[in-house]
Amino acid sequence: FLITFEGIDGSGKTTQSTRLAEALTALGQTCVKTREPGGSTGAELIRKLLVEGDTERWSAQTEILLFTAARRDHLEKTIIPSLEQGHHVISDRFVDSTRVYQGVARASLRSMVDALHDLAIQTEADLTFVIDMDPERALSRGLARNCGEDRFEDFGLEFQKSLRAGFLELAGEYHKRCHVIDGMREIDLIAAEILRITQEVLNE
Ligand code: C5P
Ligand code: MG
Repeated sequence: FLITFEGIDGSGKTTQSTRLAEALTALGQTCVKTREPGGSTGAELIRKLLVEGDTERWSAQTEILLFTAARRDHLEKTIIPSLEQGHHVISDRFVDSTRVYQGVARASLRSMVDALHDLAIQTEADLTFVIDMDPERALSRGLARNCGEDRFEDFGLEFQKSLRAGFLELAGEYHKRCHVIDGMREIDLIAAEILRITQEVLNE
C-alpha cells in the first residue's frame, strides 16, 4: 500500500506519518517512511534546488517540472522497489501537494501538473490523509520549525489559506482514497483515528 499525508505547512504531516509507520511496525507490518520533495538520493538533490534560494528563483512552471522529476526518481528508486518487496510506503507529501501548491495556490496550472503526472508518474496513492489545520496556527508552527530557511515559507497567510481550500477541494475530488483529518486536536487522538482508518482500508 502507498499511503500519503498531505496538507498545508505545519499541519502535522511529518509527526503523523511517523506515528503511523511506528504503529504499523509494532503490528508486524513492514513500512518504508519517505517524503517529498525527496525520498531518494537524486530527489533529495532536487529538493535542495527547490527549497533553497529566494522566492522568485523558479517560476511555477519550472517548479512543476522539478517536482515531477524528483517524484519520478523517488518512484523508481524508493516507492516501486519497496512496494515490490511487500512493504507499505508512507510518504510525507506526494502528487496532491503539487496539484494544490503549483496547480491552484501558486498559479492555475492544474492541467500542466496533470499532464506531466499522466506522462511520467501514472501512480496514485492507495490511501491519503489530508490533515486539515487553521493556517494561522499552522503558519506559526511552520515558521518556528523552519527558522525561515525554507524559501516557500515566505508566501504568507493568504497563500496558506488558498492551500487549505485547495486541499479540501482535492479531497472531495479524490474522495475514495482521501480522508480529511481534523489536525487541530491532540496528537494521540489524531494518530489513533489515522491508524483505525488505515486498518479498515488494509482489511477491505
Ligand atoms: O513538507 P516540507 O516542509 O518538507 O516541504 C518543503 C517545502 O516545499 C515547503 O515549504 C512546502 O511548502 C514546499 N512545497 C511546495 N510545493 C509542493 C510541495 C512542497 O511549494 N508541491
Ligand atoms: Mg515546511
